[in-house]
Amino acid sequence: MPELPEVETVRANLELECSGRVIRSVEVIDNGILDGCTTKELASFCRGRTIRGARRHGKQMFIELDQGGFITLHLGMTGDLIFYERKGDPDRHDRVLFNFTDGSRMAFRDMRKFGAIGYVTSIELFIRKKKLGPDALEIGGQEFAFRIGKHDSAIKTVLLDQKVVAGIGNLYADEVLYQSRIHPMRSAMELSAKEVETIFKNTRKVLLASIRVSSNFERLPKGFMLSVRGPGASCPRGNGKMASLKVNGRTTFYCPSCQTI
Ligand SMILES: [Zn+2]
Repeated sequence: MPELPEVETVRANLELECSGRVIRSVEVIDNGILDGCTTKELASFCRGRTIRGARRHGKQMFIELDQGGFITLHLGMTGDLIFYERKGDPDRHDRVLFNFTDGSRMAFRDMRKFGAIGYVTSIELFIRKKKLGPDALEIGGQEFAFRIGKHDSAIKTVLLDQKVVAGIGNLYADEVLYQSRIHPMRSAMELSAKEVETIFKNTRKVLLASIRVSSNFERLPKGFMLSVRGPGASCPRGNGKMASLKVNGRTTFYCPSCQTI
């Protein structure tokens, strides 16, 4: 599932490929993907508008249009954006097509259909409506500590809560806690100020490191566990085998030697 670094890569690519292109028409192949609007509304909102760029908040993307307004885009579990220089037949998992006046097109491809596309006049309004917390790379240390410390549940669960901090998903939460040597089941509220600061610093370290390598885990710095994360993996610090458990239904990998309860 795309998390903040993966979404950032898609955003940067979208900006590179589509800035300056003018939307001629929008074809919605599967309207189950639409978030709070009809096909007709989305099409008439977009028609004739020029793409200015793309922004991101957590895992949420916003395609900026000229004359104000944004197309909202969430990749869900399996969503991606595909660019066609020339119009061809869409893939069977393409859900929405944006056709540009120069004959190129951008497809929102989503196999599992947990993604969402809509539009909004203001990003702030959208974030408020979805009750999203601050972006994991924009939030400061103090606010991070304040938001984390309010919760009595497992730190892993709190890191995954997009209303607390937006952008961290299952894989990066595991890496952040591994880097911080903190057990995923520790109560967020009972962590020391020092421990929360460590988690904050490692959140930045892990997300930025992944963005730098376009989320290619093989290229992550030495000592990261994402490249080996899985059953039977060994602790990259050489402290024995990693273990797994379920936290709120999410499979969680940790090192029982480095991350004690
Ligand atoms: Zn270890």
